[in-house]
Amino acid sequence: MKVLVINSGSSSLKYQLIDANNEKVLAKGLCDRIGIGQSFIKNTGIDNETKIKEKEMGNHKVAIVEVLDTLVEGGKGVLSSMDEIHAVGHRVVHGGEKFHDSVIIDDDVMETIQECVELAPLHNPANIVGIEACKQVLPHKPMVAVFDTAFHQSIPKHAYLYALPYEMYEKYGIRKYGFHGTSHKYVAQRAAKLLGKSFEDMKVITCHLGNGASICAIKNGKSVDTSMGFTPLAGLAMGTRSGTVDPAVIAYIMSKEKMGIDEVNEYLNKKSGILGISGVSSDFRDVMAAAGEGNKRAELAIEIFCYRVKNYISEYIGVLNGTDAVVFTAGVGENNNIIRRIVVANMENLGISIDNRLNDKAVGMEMDVSNPGAKVKTLVIPTNEELAIARETLKLLR
Ligand code: ADP
Repeated sequence: MKVLVINSGSSSLKYQLIDANNEKVLAKGLCDRIGIGQSFIKNTGIDNETKIKEKEMGNHKVAIVEVLDTLVEGGKGVLSSMDEIHAVGHRVVHGGEKFHDSVIIDDDVMETIQECVELAPLHNPANIVGIEACKQVLPHKPMVAVFDTAFHQSIPKHAYLYALPYEMYEKYGIRKYGFHGTSHKYVAQRAAKLLGKSFEDMKVITCHLGNGASICAIKNGKSVDTSMGFTPLAGLAMGTRSGTVDPAVIAYIMSKEKMGIDEVNEYLNKKSGILGISGVSSDFRDVMAAAGEGNKRAELAIEIFCYRVKNYISEYIGVLNGTDAVVFTAGVGENNNIIRRIVVANMENLGISIDNRLNDKAVGMEMDVSNPGAKVKTLVIPTNEELAIARETLKLLR
């Protein structure tokens, strides 16, 4: 059983081919610059060898054909023919309030994903293009949509509603939706496994800290709150996103800087966060290096980032009335021992304390880094959204 996992962006398409029997990645890669010229495909095979091939890809359909050609490679590839693919799992960013779980894609599902475009204008159109292209190239293969928002549909109303006039929710669906749901669920389930507990019977706080970053409070297998909101701009300070600011600040900036709606959106999404504060980069590796050389604003950016993470962990310990575990995942959470150390410093009274030597060793691998006596387990768990999508796809087809 082989599942092709597709994550389609506006000018890129990431893929993984996963053997469902042993969960091995047979190939993974990326088609980039689709429709904008100088496009190429980068593929990493089962032998870990990466090859880049320039290929003009004017649209996503051509990109999917190229992916399949690469996987089959005239009979020399990881697939003898594309008939070996059993199903395709698609990442879809926004499922609105309609999808509480992954679904098999049919015409009704496509219509609903289309309705959600208003809520995710940057993401859902690209996801739809990816699905349509796949349908054309692989017309008889079952396809599944796995939503970033679905896991958070269990958040109770008092936590997802903003204190705006209620008609804003009724008219426009303005509420917290939350994102990174596939990742939060995956690492929380891994945490349950590692701790020998049942996922349905534990409390866990998951910190997905990458370029985009969010935190999730999970109780009895369900998301009960998360830091992102109506859009992925809310919550933590991120690589280039501001995270939550006093909403009055936005109108103030617009008036002072004579900015329009598009400009201020770009300002908050692309020029703020770690990049905006440090003035150095949105990448934590660059910012850490600059801080190491004495750059005060880089240092401040790191402090602000960590302080917000600490705020959410503390808040969710309150929401959950304690937690069994705190999990760190994604680029920064999995690899950056210093950020983890700053975040959890002085949280002993909340039951969190880590062994610095273990924490320093935990780079890109699953590890319990807590001190032996700590009431709350602190875990590092690499996320694997593609595997989670492949599992969801198979679960539905069975
Ligand atoms: P996204 O998927 O949201 O684009 P990632 O999860 O890849 O983001 O995270 C990107 C961040 O992770 C960057 O800020 C980068 O500095 C950090 N990161 C990635 N790998 C490492 C590493 N080996 N050591 C330290 N930081 C890392």
